[in-house]
Amino acid sequence: MQLPLGSDPRTEILRRLHAGMIAAFGRIVRPPDKRRSPEWVLAHGVIGAQTKTAASNASTDGLLAEYGSWEAVAQVSLEELEARLQRQTFPSVAAKRLKDCLQAIIAERGAVDLRHLGNLPLEDAMAWLEQLPGVARKNSAGVMNASTFKRKAMVIDGHHRRIMQRMGIVPAKADTAKTYDTLMPILPHEWSAEDMDEHHLLLKKLGQTHCRPRAPDCANCLARQDCETGKRSA
Ligand code: SF4
Repeated sequence: MQLPLGSDPRTEILRRLHAGMIAAFGRIVRPPDKRRSPEWVLAHGVIGAQTKTAASNASTDGLLAEYGSWEAVAQVSLEELEARLQRQTFPSVAAKRLKDCLQAIIAERGAVDLRHLGNLPLEDAMAWLEQLPGVARKNSAGVMNASTFKRKAMVIDGHHRRIMQRMGIVPAKADTAKTYDTLMPILPHEWSAEDMDEHHLLLKKLGQTHCRPRAPDCANCLARQDCETGKRSA
């Protein structure tokens, strides 16, 4: 039987988790001037596999500074792009994905310009992004939420997925898309796009400090009372 909207008990758990993380870590709010363009966030995600955020930030800024536009970056040879992406963990993969993605956007839109997505329903905008080479759910949600679009889409990375799985909020083997599809309908209705961004950034912090990939520190974790794994470890 389908629960009425807003009555899923996991919604209240997410509210408590959010408040607990703010109490433990403080607010992590992305300042307006740190919101990048949707095109920048897309490129950043396409080259970012297994790479620290700071390195991908530097690579993405470096490409724009050197070539001046994403259309110009799309014309650069794969060898040259690879040489410019040496900070990335997989430079050759990043170069090919980025070139393919930018060229696909130019073929469809005539330029690397994602403004049309701002007028589409969220699901349609994300589906459009996910048909591009190298773009999966984490990146499409990032473009819609963490860029200047500021739309209500939850970004899911490895920390976020692992914590939701361990807490029993999403199925144990849920991939990123399944985690997203499970979470979106049960998020507190009052959360703004900025709240979703902050929730994701706070979960990254929890994943780096307590709910680490190996040896989670359940005994000292703020989420323990609501966490299936934490309760089992008591
Ligand atoms: S109680 Fe343990 S498993 Fe649950 S979120 Fe905290 S560290 Fe992770």
